[in-house]
Amino acid sequence: HPDDLYGDERRNSRGFNVRNTDDLELIEKARGPFKNHQWNLKPLLVAKESSGEVVTVKNPSLPHDIVGTVQFCTAGDVEKAIANAAVWNASPQERAAVLSKASDLYEAHFGELFAMLAREAGKTALDAIAELREAVDFLRYYAARAMELKNPPRGTITCISPWNFPLAIFTGQLSAALAAGNAVLAKPAEATSLIAVRATQLLHEAGVPASALQLLPGEGKTIGAMLTGSEKINGVCFTGSTATAQSINRNMAEKVSPSAPLIAETGGLNAMIVDSTALPEQAIRDIVASAFQSAGQRCSALRVLYLQDDIADSFLKMLYGTMDAQVVGDPWEFKADLGPVIDKKAKNTIEDHIETARSEGRLLKQITRPDTGTFVAPTVLSLSSILDLKQEIFGPVLHVVKFHASELDQVLRDINATGYGLTCGLHSRIDDRVEYVTQRLNIGNMYVNRNQIGAVVGTQPFGGEGLSGTGPKAGGPYYVPRFAMADVMTLSA
Ligand code: GLU
Repeated sequence: HPDDLYGDERRNSRGFNVRNTDDLELIEKARGPFKNHQWNLKPLLVAKESSGEVVTVKNPSLPHDIVGTVQFCTAGDVEKAIANAAVWNASPQERAAVLSKASDLYEAHFGELFAMLAREAGKTALDAIAELREAVDFLRYYAARAMELKNPPRGTITCISPWNFPLAIFTGQLSAALAAGNAVLAKPAEATSLIAVRATQLLHEAGVPASALQLLPGEGKTIGAMLTGSEKINGVCFTGSTATAQSINRNMAEKVSPSAPLIAETGGLNAMIVDSTALPEQAIRDIVASAFQSAGQRCSALRVLYLQDDIADSFLKMLYGTMDAQVVGDPWEFKADLGPVIDKKAKNTIEDHIETARSEGRLLKQITRPDTGTFVAPTVLSLSSILDLKQEIFGPVLHVVKFHASELDQVLRDINATGYGLTCGLHSRIDDRVEYVTQRLNIGNMYVNRNQIGAVVGTQPFGGEGLSGTGPKAGGPYYVPRFAMADVMTLSA
């Protein structure tokens, strides 16, 4: 059965247990040799030589730590890559076997990948473990889906992936396109090119043909429009900001065939509603994880917490106490709960937002952070309504709105009125209220009495509504079929 490829009886990669010292020792030993390693990597193209600029990659936590260098692609490289792309001519069973082999190679190289996740992307050990699992799960789950697929590939698909999940989302996009038999042109985020090259090398080693998967590191502004605006492209898969998705959509409308799909996962303005029946200890743990894990750099992350007014003060006191125990620091250290944000520009944008709130008297709580590197201190700000937040703040900043029980309908209307609909959390012990709220919100992933991050491949397909994405949901049964030709309906008289 196809799902035999997809792990043990739990159907997900085993991962590691950070509460188990044996597992921690295993991780320490495997990534040790890569603590000072420098990766000097190039684009992976059928036409081998590129004359693109070589860029130095630095560790966002430790500016003196050089992670390596990567060569960026030129416009000429993109032209040749498009011309050389060839659909993967193999049976679904063969493709599935190769993707499954790649998933084993990912697991076998966990030490190197964890080191790259920490040093290039600022990921803590907990984040790196979850990220590798998700990447491995995508490979196995989409391999299984490929074997159910009846329709042919679309052709050449461009995959543009973000820096916040440089292994998992990168792998998820391209493995779905490959599972359906397409040729892939993958452009990773500038900030996390090295791990993308390493992962692509593992995919090639597993048997993905070079012409079916080419990797084009480079600047969005130099090569992005070419990769999404050629009539030889048959679809684009993109994860990133809503604004960039809109501009890709316009570019495709003008220059690509009307049948070519854009599969986009974009931003969110995610809320959590906590009413007076919530269990504080549980809700606070889930708030901290949702708002601050991965330094808030998940599009699923909690941005606006709606707290029922009669419990708000005691609740916030407990929240602040829990925040005081969070450690912000070099993610290589197991004790770090939060690593840095991705770069200086991100840090400045987030800290400007905090400073504006501080000057307006809305700063409620902030803990400390190291002074070097691009760390941002976990912060809580007050707000009157989610509609006052004009943009997604992609960092460890939580906004709190107090509401009265009689205002619940207004809260739901405001959340819907943002136009986004990615994740939402609800903590309540009243079944009717859970039903009432979930029926009224236009949300892709609704989480009740738990945190709202870390959707699990196969069991929690992930994706939003409205401004948050086009669907289909990643890690769900409808994803791979979107990368194949649509069914043709034959009508007989
Ligand atoms: N799938 C991730 C989660 O559930 C978020 C993906 C993203 O940030 O783009 O937390």
